[in-house]
Amino acid sequence: MRILISNDDGVLAPGIAALRHAVADMADVTVVAPDSPQSAAGHGITVHNPLTVRRLDIGGFEAMSVDGRPADCVRLAIKELLDGPADLVLSGINAGANVGINVFYSGTVAAAAEAAMLGCPAVAFSAAVPTGGSLSDDDFAQSGKICRQVLEKLISIGLVGGDLINVNIPVPAEGNPRGLRVVPQSKAEVEDVYKLQEKNDTHRRYRLEMEYKFAPGETETDVTDLAAGYVTVTPLHFDMTEHNRLTELQKQTWANIRM
Ligand code: MN
Repeated sequence: MRILISNDDGVLAPGIAALRHAVADMADVTVVAPDSPQSAAGHGITVHNPLTVRRLDIGGFEAMSVDGRPADCVRLAIKELLDGPADLVLSGINAGANVGINVFYSGTVAAAAEAAMLGCPAVAFSAAVPTGGSLSDDDFAQSGKICRQVLEKLISIGLVGGDLINVNIPVPAEGNPRGLRVVPQSKAEVEDVYKLQEKNDTHRRYRLEMEYKFAPGETETDVTDLAAGYVTVTPLHFDMTEHNRLTELQKQTWANIRM
């Protein structure tokens, strides 16, 4: 089996080393990741500049860095850099949860989604960070063990090309994880704040406050269950078609629109 690992925190991030370590004995593993942090890069790709690939040694294993976005890394790796077709693409382990509408901003999920678009099964792994805190190498190692078990379970169930599975691990805390739940993505709004930092005659400068909180009032989603201390597993799809609405709109008469 050939596994490609990428991420959005960059090739030097502790999370990618932990994920690589966790699956090292499962397959022929290749790491191709951005050369700098690309969190919230979403599904951006590089179209106006060439991409530079460099081989480097990271804590005893070989990796390739790319001066592009997470999706660039996966696309370039699958099309050019790997010795053969990838059987599985993993992204992460991201430092920070990727749940709810954050899935749209996430470079971690985008890397996995890119693989799914190219017909590979893909799994994105993210670990929630405690408010005002960070994750230690030990925390990432613990998360890696969980990722490995979830991955083995997914493989035993059967992963197929185009699968895009989003896995989130709760903050390290007493009693966490309390279990695992397979749940839908939350549609809750994010209570983000643009803080005015500077104002003069020519411009105003805003910064997005990173401490965002998810709106309350919903249960049994990736947001609520991750916050409650559960590992969450959410299958996603890059086909954004809303099929009920599609059927409705197809039944309408559109003939009166003049072309
Ligand atoms: Mn990130």
